Amino acid sequence: MNAFSRRGACPALSAPMQTGDGLLVRLNPVAGGPSSGGLSPKLLIEVAESALRHGNGIMEVTARGSLQIRGLTTESAALLAAEVDALGIAVRTGVPVETGPLAGVDPKEIADPRRLAERIRVAIEDAGLATRLGPKVAVIVDGGGQLAMDAVTADVRLVATRTDVGIQWCVSVAGDRQTARPLTVASEDPARDIAVAALRMVAEKGREAHARDLSDRQLVSLAGWQSFTPPSAVPDILAGEMAGTPEGGATERLPIGLFPLSRFHALGIGLPYGSMPADKIIGLAKSALALSTTEIRLAPGRALLFLGQPADANQSLQDVAAALGFIISPTDPRTRIAACPGTPACASGRIATRDIAEAIAAEGVDSLDFTLHVSGCAKGCAHPGPAALTLVGGENGAGLVVNATAKALPAGYRPGYDAARGISRVAAVIRSARSQGETDAACLTRLGAAAIAEMYQQE
Ligand code: SF4
Repeated sequence: MNAFSRRGACPALSAPMQTGDGLLVRLNPVAGGPSSGGLSPKLLIEVAESALRHGNGIMEVTARGSLQIRGLTTESAALLAAEVDALGIAVRTGVPVETGPLAGVDPKEIADPRRLAERIRVAIEDAGLATRLGPKVAVIVDGGGQLAMDAVTADVRLVATRTDVGIQWCVSVAGDRQTARPLTVASEDPARDIAVAALRMVAEKGREAHARDLSDRQLVSLAGWQSFTPPSAVPDILAGEMAGTPEGGATERLPIGLFPLSRFHALGIGLPYGSMPADKIIGLAKSALALSTTEIRLAPGRALLFLGQPADANQSLQDVAAALGFIISPTDPRTRIAACPGTPACASGRIATRDIAEAIAAEGVDSLDFTLHVSGCAKGCAHPGPAALTLVGGENGAGLVVNATAKALPAGYRPGYDAARGISRVAAVIRSARSQGETDAACLTRLGAAAIAEMYQQE
């Protein structure tokens, strides 16, 4: 057990969040080793049984790879926390320092990120930063490989990269792999020091602050932190980072399907919209147990990774998962739609988000090259950032928002029960209006919100 994983001490477990369907707890198990996020099938079954006993039976894996249990009360959340504690599950506490879901077992990773991640955790603790930073401040240490952390945002990110002096870490701040601002490329010790210095600067700005609030002067001082003379390749590596073309070939990939490891494959199975009833998770974990899976890891991108089962068990496990309603293919249309619980699960919801999402998936809207967001209300829980198209529940039904967040004023409305038909019409128009080489998102922007809303509302 590392310095930051104490039983039952997860702040999210002891301080659940209020949502429209009761209290929600979030936990990040670290049972399988530092930051691997792994649980044995037996432990996952027991956690899911606890969720069934004390919550409303809905479990989620988030875009960051956290496990969430919904529908709790103050009393039942305390009982759940006690049961998780009694199961001996070590949970992550303190500032999240995240690694990829295959960290340490992926033969294709550029470097095993776990040691550097642990050293950063210890340095954060030693510097007394854990209590001075806000709960959403996060660090990513990405060793690259088959399931890189490109799409996950962080205040500080360290990405393994090959340079002419060996493997080093590209340090950047505030964003995902594409949007973060690159600072420098450094070996392990200075990379850790720069990461902690950046966090210290964030802490000095207060608990609401993030790395995006650092001034240009502070960023320049962080970039010049090390006395080390950059090798000639460094400017090219940083330029590659700024262009979103990482060295090492790491590309964003959904954690769904088979991923070859040294001795076996990891099998990724997705949760539709990141959510599944606990009894179905129990059913899948029981099959995994029978098929000799030894570890189930939570993966950013709303999936579970099954490890340890023999190669000939993977097809059986996929068959069981598909029959239970899980996602077994990265091309499943449901992977292109972000949808919150909506009505009836969430009291704030104004539309039946999951029904609408299923209808949209059935209409073949998956051919669009952007993620569609279906939100029960303007809070936008499932996709807080802007999306090319957002359906948002309100007094007038399902509003359509173009290139903005769920909080924006919709450009047009349609009754919730009929919203999928409107989206289907928009998708058809985009497909026919798209110029050669133009993306769907660019075509949508060119057509403009008013024209898109008109198509959406057409009978
Ligand atoms: S966005 Fe969805 S889950 Fe969040 S409060 Fe609104 S209806 Fe509930």
